[in-house]
Amino acid sequence: MKWMRRLCLGGAFLLIPVNLVHAAEPDRVLLLHSFGPEFSPWHTITPPFREELRKQAPRPVDLYEASLQSERFGESPAPEEGPFIEYLNALVPARDLKLIVAMGAPATRFVLRNRARMFPSSPLLIASSDLRTYEDLTLAANDTACPITFDPAVHIDHILRLLPGTSNIVVAIGASPTERFWTDQLRQSFQRFSGVTFEWFNNLSADDMVKRIEELPPHSAIYYATVRVDARGAPQEGDAILLRFLGLDRAPIFTHVDSHFGEGIVGGPMFSSREIAQRCAEVAVRILGGEPPGKIKIAPVGLAAPVYDWRQLQRWGVDQKLLPPGAEVLFREPSGWERYRWQIALLGALFLVQGGMIVSLLHERDRRLRAEVLARQRMSELAHTNRYSMAGELTASIAHELNQPLAAILTNAETAELLIKSPTLDLKEIREVIEDIRRDDERASEVIRRLRSLLKKAPFELKNLDFNEIVRETIELVSAVAIAREADLLSSTSRGSLPVKGDRIQLQQVILNLIVNALDAMSEMPGTERKVTVSTAATNGFAELWISDTGPGIPPEHLKDVFEPFFSTKAHGMGMGLSIARTLVEAHGGQLTAENQAGGGATLRLRLPLTSNPE
Ligand code: ADP
Repeated sequence: MKWMRRLCLGGAFLLIPVNLVHAAEPDRVLLLHSFGPEFSPWHTITPPFREELRKQAPRPVDLYEASLQSERFGESPAPEEGPFIEYLNALVPARDLKLIVAMGAPATRFVLRNRARMFPSSPLLIASSDLRTYEDLTLAANDTACPITFDPAVHIDHILRLLPGTSNIVVAIGASPTERFWTDQLRQSFQRFSGVTFEWFNNLSADDMVKRIEELPPHSAIYYATVRVDARGAPQEGDAILLRFLGLDRAPIFTHVDSHFGEGIVGGPMFSSREIAQRCAEVAVRILGGEPPGKIKIAPVGLAAPVYDWRQLQRWGVDQKLLPPGAEVLFREPSGWERYRWQIALLGALFLVQGGMIVSLLHERDRRLRAEVLARQRMSELAHTNRYSMAGELTASIAHELNQPLAAILTNAETAELLIKSPTLDLKEIREVIEDIRRDDERASEVIRRLRSLLKKAPFELKNLDFNEIVRETIELVSAVAIAREADLLSSTSRGSLPVKGDRIQLQQVILNLIVNALDAMSEMPGTERKVTVSTAATNGFAELWISDTGPGIPPEHLKDVFEPFFSTKAHGMGMGLSIARTLVEAHGGQLTAENQAGGGATLRLRLPLTSNPE
């Protein structure tokens, strides 16, 4: 049993490493570059090819890369290819090589020429080579291709379509053997363009090319075929010369591969580097998957749908209507609106909100003004009604006031009659009597004028007035009422004048109201104790008026209520007098307050701003 256990353990040891070796065994692939991995257009095809291959391959890929640098110069084939073949054979054991990928025409021709001497049994994939570059060579059953093909004349047609005024086209092409092959192809292909001058760069050094571009006449365009090696044999890795042309910005540049799309070329129908890489990677994956290469036949990759750089179309004044159907325009610079859409929209919204607020504020202001005018109208109507309601109260006063001058007039008229009848006509005395009659008449008219003016329906009007004068006038008007009510009306106005700005009628009305209220308040008091004192003074820039009575005063809890509309403790009171009075005083910028005196009775205090210092 012991030996069996040992056998099992031994077997396990033996099995595990063998399995691991198989699982980790990668597919070895040789990628043979024509000039070097950085030459156009393979510098933009190879990276996505590697990427796709690694992504899609059934097993891990072990990629060997070599470059046929000798193809850059001189004769093709190179006089001695043996050492390079030996090097390749030494690179990877022939039986382990799962696939050779020849990138471009020179590598393709090299492998096909030397098929018997290098990896004869390994499959060959001819990648990104134009069919025309190897059609003279035969493919074996182990070989296949993902070719490309295009008609170079398409590009000249395209240039003339976009820029119909073009009269001079530079054909930038290098001097390597393959490029010489292509120079012949292009020359033949461009023969039909008789109206255009072609400038061929295949015999120029890179510096001479640049010089020539700097001197280009107007209406020129550049067709960059590829310059991998210039006429002096200087390699131009990564389209170095194209980048120099782009830097000069002298004429619109067109290419047949999209390697530098977005870096300054105009665009148009071009090969898509990624599409070529993908198609070739797909074929490579099928071969690695075990499909016989000879059976894989795929259609050549053609020019992709035209794409354009919007900035270049603008730069060279290309009318976008001339672009071929289905054209895609990229790198469009957003318009101001597109770029700042949110900011503009936000600003617009702000303006709208602000506009709305302004409109609503204006509307509100209008409404307020209208309301104020209306309120003022109502107030003056109310004040007028209130004055009328006081008219009855004043009747006694008026009658009394009128009575006096009328009685005096009558007496004087009788005296005058007697004087005229007298035999000694004393003209001097008669004149004095007539003078008295006129004075009394004027007094009577003055009483009527004042009453009339108090009852007049007049608009609110501010004038410079002497507040003391108004107080005195009002006392005169109301004094008869006080006499009728058996009350003493005492006044002590300050010396000089109290200049205020106000409406005479309204201020009289207020004072009248306060005095009548004071008389009302004392109606229950014995006749001897009824006393109303009206005094004025100038204090701290205000004209002040106090009206004090000897009545019961205002119950403290009602001190505020007395100014409320319709508050009245009188049997027939309307309760509007003080409310109107306060509104009128406030319209004059003043204040009206009520308080009780320590010794009994109420005091109503009125303050109006003085317009200047009292005299
Ligand atoms: P009305 O005279 O129609 O009642 P007012 O607004 O003029 O309306 O006065 C409101 C109330 O204020 C009066 O009813 C009264 O109770 C009180 N009042 C006003 N003046 C005095 C005063 N001098 N003494 C006591 N109470 C007063």
